[in-house]
Amino acid sequence: MPDLRTRVDLALQGVRMDAPVHREAGAGPSDDGHVLIGGLGAAIPVNPTSPYVLRRDRLLLDGADLGLDVTPVRRPLFYDLTTDDGVPYEKIARLHGRDVLATTVVQTCMRYDEAERCRFCAIEASLAAGATTAVKTPAQLAEVAAAAVRLDGVRSMVMTTGTSRGTDRGAKHLARCVRAVLEAVPGLPVQVQCEPPTDLSVLQDLRDAGAVSIGIHVESLDDAVRARWTPGKSRVPLAAYREAWAEAVRVFGRNQVSTYLLVGLGEDPDELVAGAAELVAMGVYPFVVPFRPLRGTLAVDVDGVGAPPADVVERVSREVAALLVAAGMTSDGQRAGCAACGACGVLKTAGA
Ligand code: SF4
Repeated sequence: MPDLRTRVDLALQGVRMDAPVHREAGAGPSDDGHVLIGGLGAAIPVNPTSPYVLRRDRLLLDGADLGLDVTPVRRPLFYDLTTDDGVPYEKIARLHGRDVLATTVVQTCMRYDEAERCRFCAIEASLAAGATTAVKTPAQLAEVAAAAVRLDGVRSMVMTTGTSRGTDRGAKHLARCVRAVLEAVPGLPVQVQCEPPTDLSVLQDLRDAGAVSIGIHVESLDDAVRARWTPGKSRVPLAAYREAWAEAVRVFGRNQVSTYLLVGLGEDPDELVAGAAELVAMGVYPFVVPFRPLRGTLAVDVDGVGAPPADVVERVSREVAALLVAAGMTSDGQRAGCAACGACGVLKTAGA
């Protein structure tokens, strides 16, 4: 296991390596190669200029062996399969970490207009690049999930969605997809991710469909940061998020609800930690993740924003991890999803 500072540096500076399992664009904040560091899944930027180099599963810094085993996740067998109607499985769902199957069920977002879009997001870039399909059907997802479990030992699934114009914000399609996957693979832990629906009863529909956990991702609890970074989404008031989180905790249970909090958007670190403490008190896991500059996003292509300082990421992660540990809400207790996987953040290394 790396020390926390090394893990933060790897997250921010990346590694010179070949990673067979990686993605170059997509929903949310990451742009990474998937590796195991000391056995834990980690999504690490592939960076040809990083001072860290991976050579024969050993991590070197300026030529010195750091004594850490780092193993790239191998390309899964299911990537070589194709649906009957000719769609490669790889375009329907992807392997994240060692054993998480991840998909974006609807790859378009009603907020993708340049004035509205989250500035760290590239959800439609992978669609434009032909790397995925616009809408994954429940039947396709069931077929791919069954193969990924059978051939590659997948143990959980994450389903996210671009935001639709309906009051359910895409949750109804998610529910259909969860049902179909669980008919094909009974018992597979599935996390769903969506914006706060206007009609909160769809949260119960998602649970009834069989999802075991949910991510309702706010990204920042600072309204000024939200207005700058997530202009479309910022019109959903924080009060609506709080209502949705509270209802989600009632439906899914304490520590089965999570939200991303990005570090490096210009927020006050102490306020971020104080906001995380309120989330923990509600039973919501604040999944703290460093902002990653990703080509194809407005943050990088237009604003030229870089990675946040390592000491801030380290301090915030350490303090939020301490809150989570004190509350008995560690990632091990999450049944599926990003907090359970942990690869995009460093909270697991910090003990949470
Ligand atoms: S934390 Fe979430 S987005 Fe990141 S690798 Fe894990 S499942 Fe994928």
